[in-house]
Amino acid sequence: MQTYTLLGVISIKYHLKLKTGLHIGGAKENFEIGGVDNPVIKLPMELELKDRTIPKDAPYIPGSSLKGKIRSLLEWELKEPKGTDRENTTSVQYMVNYAKNKLLEDVKKNYKYSDKLKQILINQFGIDESYINEAEFKGNKDFEEKHLSKLISDFKNIAGSPCNCGVCSICKMFGVSDIKVFRNLPPNQLPGPPRVEFSDAYPTEESIRLLNKHLGEGIFTELKVENVINRITSESQNLRTNERVPAGVEFEGEITLDIYSNEDIELLKKLITGLKLLENSYLGGSGSRGYGKVEFSEITITLRGRNYFENNAQEEEIFKGTLKEWNNKKLNDLSQKLQNNSNGG
Ligand SMILES: [Zn+2]
Repeated sequence: MQTYTLLGVISIKYHLKLKTGLHIGGAKENFEIGGVDNPVIKLPMELELKDRTIPKDAPYIPGSSLKGKIRSLLEWELKEPKGTDRENTTSVQYMVNYAKNKLLEDVKKNYKYSDKLKQILINQFGIDESYINEAEFKGNKDFEEKHLSKLISDFKNIAGSPCNCGVCSICKMFGVSDIKVFRNLPPNQLPGPPRVEFSDAYPTEESIRLLNKHLGEGIFTELKVENVINRITSESQNLRTNERVPAGVEFEGEITLDIYSNEDIELLKKLITGLKLLENSYLGGSGSRGYGKVEFSEITITLRGRNYFENNAQEEEIFKGTLKEWNNKKLNDLSQKLQNNSNGG
């Protein structure tokens, strides 16, 4: 049950090492003329952090890039009860079904029934025949071939969107952008505020030092030429220059997870699954060409309980180590600490 009280905040500090070059695209406008086709995102000016300064032009990983990637990986992986009918499924499957329902609703509202339309709904959109009843078609338009591409693009947009079921742990952690879905949810199932926040991740001091040493003062990236081989002549064509952050560079950042109930502690387990999935996938662009392999290290998980915010208490360390060393039994410690912390406050 929702308690409507912030019990604590879990902080996950991490290092993220690039095992291959990373390309997270930045704005081309900021790049000098004659530069690369695909620049990476960089700091437009020097940035003062709490404990150090990051130089201008240093590349960084926007929190939104990490968040979006981890969310999408989890949406393919986690099977959980979704939406009002609580079907146990992945978020991707849920959204495909949602898009089918939406499509069928729209078609019935706008078009007259025809056998051809029925066949398209079944064969191209995978809609079950039993949902297509002639009597429910109330539209006055005749369906024509030229209407199909609009149906397809609407369907793809909805089916490919982030989960909007409003009740699964992904919606709880990352939030739901379409608040219309809440209209159909019973009040005790409302997801509450999004729980996770991803900070931008910046190169470690050591990485900045090494890049300056090897590439030159103020240079933090490499250029890689990508080409397509002409199948018939074997010549290279379509040469493009990609800017990348070189392999070996290490970033550091923080993820926080707000805890409103004991059930929310389970979200940490799922978030860590997301980090593991990222290590098995890639970050940024051109992943199929081998870009963006990353590895987490130096993970420190701490709890900031109510005492931390109200009475200046220290944050409590829950875990220190690598992703492989994490054990879900730690969640029990966390639950205990959270309880002590809120009782003692
Ligand atoms: Zn959801």
